[in-house]
Amino acid sequence: MGTPSHPPQSDPTVHCATCGAPLTGAWCAACGEKRREPGDLRLAHLIGGAVAALTNADGRLWGSLRALVLQPGVLTADWVAGRRRRRLEPVVLFLLCNAVFFLLQPLIGWNTLTTDWQTHMGGQGYSALAREWFLPLMPREREALEAYIAAFNAHASTRANGLVIVMAPLFALASWLMFLPQRREFAVHLVFALHFVAFWLLWMTASLGVVAGALRGFGWSVDDAALDDAMTLVMVAVSGAWLALAARRVFGGRLAALRGALLALAMIVVLQAYRVFLFLAAFATT
Ligand SMILES: [Zn+2]
Repeated sequence: MGTPSHPPQSDPTVHCATCGAPLTGAWCAACGEKRREPGDLRLAHLIGGAVAALTNADGRLWGSLRALVLQPGVLTADWVAGRRRRRLEPVVLFLLCNAVFFLLQPLIGWNTLTTDWQTHMGGQGYSALAREWFLPLMPREREALEAYIAAFNAHASTRANGLVIVMAPLFALASWLMFLPQRREFAVHLVFALHFVAFWLLWMTASLGVVAGALRGFGWSVDDAALDDAMTLVMVAVSGAWLALAARRVFGGRLAALRGALLALAMIVVLQAYRVFLFLAAFATT
């Protein structure tokens, strides 16, 4: 690829409009730009292109989402094998699922990733430590303390969306440790983790949405600790099944499915680590 040149007289059907390389087909062999066709500047072409991006890229978007949910590990295996043209980039797919989760979260009204002050201070693995270290730093008077907690919760909920990304490298680390004898590149584990957390976010959105909707239908409350534990068990079981299938496909070898299933337990630890990150981030900015 040379320096971009745009000589006005050069014919965009003979030389690439972006990099100037001679064209031998419909796409530039040097930079991938599409050859300009005579009808390209018409309004109908622009509209047709937008429809194609939503429906034909449908091949990429819907195909990737379908594979993510129904064929665990296929997206990672494709990425490793270099079959990437027809798939969404792992990070793009992750961000998309992240956006879906946080857009629907207020409708679902179930607290998993935007943990509030009360949740941090009780019931978490680190809660005793958090109480011991942070409660002495809190305001003494009741009103000041309540104002502080309200501000903390607001900060926690704005931070949560961006912080979910830390779950991917943390989970990749767990996967790397679990499959250490295979000596695979860390990037493979990171892509595996991005795909898993993307699936996990979709699963949480769907299952919490359905269960919360059903409970409201019966007029029951979703703020029940036993129910939360039951949902965690179901989450671990579904994650374990997905990870077992995906690990067998991506890593193969002896006990790959078992190692994959065990990674579902690592996800509990990753979730706790994420909550510690979120707590510290909210604390630091309140
Ligand atoms: Zn070009």
